[in-house]
Formats: sequence, structure tokens, C-alpha cells
Amino acid sequence: MTLKRVSAFMRRLFRAGEFWRVFFQENFALELVDILIGEYRKSERRLILLDYDGTLVPFADKPSDAEPDEDLLELLGSLARDDRNEVVIVSGRDRSFLEKWFGGRQLGLVAEHGAWVRVKGAGWRLTGPLEDGWKREVFPLLEECVKNTPGSFIEEKSFSLVWHYRKADPLVGRMRARSLKEKLTSLAARLGLEVSEGNMVVEVKNLGVNKGRAVLYWTSKADWDFILAIGDDVTDEDMFAALPSQSYSVKVGVPPSQAKFFVRSVEDVRTILRGLAESSMHSHAHDNVHHKKRIFSWFLEGGATG
Ligand SMILES: [Mg+2]
Repeated sequence: MTLKRVSAFMRRLFRAGEFWRVFFQENFALELVDILIGEYRKSERRLILLDYDGTLVPFADKPSDAEPDEDLLELLGSLARDDRNEVVIVSGRDRSFLEKWFGGRQLGLVAEHGAWVRVKGAGWRLTGPLEDGWKREVFPLLEECVKNTPGSFIEEKSFSLVWHYRKADPLVGRMRARSLKEKLTSLAARLGLEVSEGNMVVEVKNLGVNKGRAVLYWTSKADWDFILAIGDDVTDEDMFAALPSQSYSVKVGVPPSQAKFFVRSVEDVRTILRGLAESSMHSHAHDNVHHKKRIFSWFLEGGATG
């Protein structure tokens, strides 16, 4: 099947509510890795944008436990060593976490969903004038939430506050998240803030700070002939939406999304990256890419939101 026909087929399934059932069946598989490697080999200026949590590593109860393993660091290292590649970690994490693990590794970094960017070999830079005086007013609301929701906690970053409830009772957590969002609505409007719900988190940050803004910084930097972006949650939608139309966007998870491709797991993402890294290492040979593992992914042209 051609990409276009697969796309039309998947869109029909999606409308018919069948997407979920076939998502886990292998016989409709598309070989995304092969498609990506084909394009990757033809290109000379490549931009690879990668979310961190839920994309490169699985979620952990405590964010500080989700550390990169040796395999991942090696994989990112070999992608970054190819001088045709620019690899950027586009994360909601704070600067110190990213710096600690990726600072010395020839990678571009985006912290706090686009508040900070760091081009490889340079220092951190704010992407715009930002405020943090609003934290004083928001903090008490989050503290009340922590008091009422055992297992939840607050994470403070330079320009955002996050309430985490991954370790709390999921039902209670979700309920409190909804009421917290409601309570924050008028405050957010008055203070110029944005309240977003991520994977078991509610995050408050300055309005207009998002991954899309950071991605534009990189996409406009050079004349890329291959752009790949991979992410797993709502904050990555801003990144997908900001990409030039010929880019490859991959969501770890299911529609709705602006992404064109869908894969199922962090392991699938690693398989994609391994395929590209091997292709970099064997760029002068024609047929010795050793990725034998196939992953199963779906393609929806123009994303699955429409
Ligand atoms: Mg993520």
C-alpha cells in the first residue's frame, strides 16, 4: 500500500471508531523505520527533535528517577556525532536536569517547554522576557492540593510550577486536577498564565511559552532537508504544529494528534533512533543496516485531529 492509501484507510478506521482495535494488530503494519531511513540517507541537513519523558524514557513515579540509561546515551551520542545531524532534546524538564545528563554531549537542549534554549557548545538563553512574580499567588493553591491529595507534590522550575499526582490515587488525582484547573482559571487570565494538563500533572507557566516557540527557533536556523520530531503528550502538539509541512512527526500513543505517525512505546522510539544511528555509521554501504526489528506504526496524513 502506498502512504496515501494507508492514510485514507486509517482515517476511515478512525472515523468508524475502529482505530483502537487495529492499532494493536500487526498485519496493518507500516515500516516506518524503513521510510525514515530512506529519507535520512538522502539528506544532508537533518534536524531531530526529541521529547524526553514518555518518549526517550518511560515515566517514573518521581521525575528524578527517570534517568537516561547507557543505551540511550550511546544512541544519542552516535546520532550527534554525525555532523549532518542536529539533535535537540525538547523537554519540560528544568535546565539542571538536562545539563546534568546531556550538557556535555553535542546536543541542543530546550528546557521548561521552551522557556530556555541551549545551542550545543553555548550557554542557556531565555526565549523571551518572562515573569515569575506570579508564583507567590499560585503556590498556595497548589499547596492546598498537595494537602488534600496524598502522594502528590509540587515541582518548581524557574518559570513554571507543576503539581504531580502520578503517585496519588488516579481517580482522586484526576478529580483534584480538574478542580485545580478551574480554580486557576481567573487567576491565570489576570496574571497572563497558561494552565495545562500533561501526563498526571497540572502545569502553570507564562502564556505563550511552549515547545512550538522553541522549535521555530531551530527550524528557522538552517535549510533542513530532513526534520523528525517525536513526542508523547499534549505539550508536544505545539511542537508538531510548528513543524514545516514536509517534516516527519511521530506520536508515542494514539490520536487525536497533529502528528503524522503513531508508535506504541518508548521501545519503538529507540528502534527508530537505532535504525538512524546505524544508518549514519554505515552511510557508505548500501545494504548493511542491521535493524532487524520491525515496529508497527500508523500513518495519518495531516494528523488525526480533523
Ligand atoms: Mg513527554
